[in-house]
Amino acid sequence: ASPQEIIRGAEPDSGLRPRRLDEMVGQQDVIERLKIAIDAALGRGEPLGHILFDGPPGLGKTTFATVIPAEMGTTVQMANGAGLTAPKDLVPYLTNVSAHSVLFIDEIHRIPKAVEEYLYTAMEDFRIDIVLGEGVNARTLNLELQPFTLIGATTRAGMLSAPLRDRFQIREHLGWYTQEQLCQLVQRNANKLSMSVNDAAANEIARRSRSTPRLANNRLHWVRDYAQIKTKGDVSLGVARDSLDMIGIDKLGLDKQDRNYLDTLIRVFAGGPAGLDAIAHTMNVSGDTLEDEVEPFLLRSELILRTRRGRMATGKAFTHMKRVPVKN
Ligand code: ATP
Repeated sequence: ASPQEIIRGAEPDSGLRPRRLDEMVGQQDVIERLKIAIDAALGRGEPLGHILFDGPPGLGKTTFATVIPAEMGTTVQMANGAGLTAPKDLVPYLTNVSAHSVLFIDEIHRIPKAVEEYLYTAMEDFRIDIVLGEGVNARTLNLELQPFTLIGATTRAGMLSAPLRDRFQIREHLGWYTQEQLCQLVQRNANKLSMSVNDAAANEIARRSRSTPRLANNRLHWVRDYAQIKTKGDVSLGVARDSLDMIGIDKLGLDKQDRNYLDTLIRVFAGGPAGLDAIAHTMNVSGDTLEDEVEPFLLRSELILRTRRGRMATGKAFTHMKRVPVKN
């Protein structure tokens, strides 16, 4: 998003992204706490305290960051930590904040130290220093900002420094969604997309969505295309299975990249232990991608273990990949 891009409320996500807290599925305890904080801030006429969301990709961090300002009746600016390489990159966002509006920084763990330190006074005192001119003519201007709310999102809470983490009054971890919650999401969104999906099919799509709303929505879009062309629209269990098989989503919901990871660990490294970098090099993908997008679900599914000596495939992974462990 460009610095000047200000959107009100929710961003269009082909219409499926919830616009209000009550439209969201799951995360009930997080939602309850947020509602209290929002109502309290509105009641006092103050900005909401800064919020940090952490958790694996696709579980709703950006959704919360757009729904919260909608609940507050305010606007949100979207930024990404990877794009904030120097304090000057933050200035347009900070000078653009209106009173009680939200500045969302996704992947906040990627901001360098200098940017992080620049954020401290902005978050705490709603002030920043701007350097005007260069060399001997340079002078510093201390600028007062409108009181705003910073919402940070990260897949790596552990990478944030303690001083930054401590400046967020509200810290919420977004966990995986249950099968029932995802099934509810699939049924609700199937309705929005005017699809006819029976219960067994909705369950199957949910089961193959790696406990992640974003993937449930992606899978549902594909099933819709498939059904439209192959079955004139109705989605039965068989249609859900066939369509997901066709794009390489297996019974556990793993996609080709997940299986490629397990295959590499099992075939090339004899089940491990193997270092993340070695696996990443062999697969020709970045270690960050594996650590952020692939490993969390494999760990949660007990298909791999992280040990001090490296990653290891579990017995369940060997069975799933139809391989037999090699005995030493
Ligand atoms: P990333 O950090 O990778 O951007 P994220 O955690 O911010 O991921 P979102 O973009 O918020 O994830 O969520 C992905 C999609 O999943 C959203 O567009 C939304 O449609 C859907 N979604 C996420 N959480 C929920 C929820 N609790 N209820 C309903 N839909 C949800």
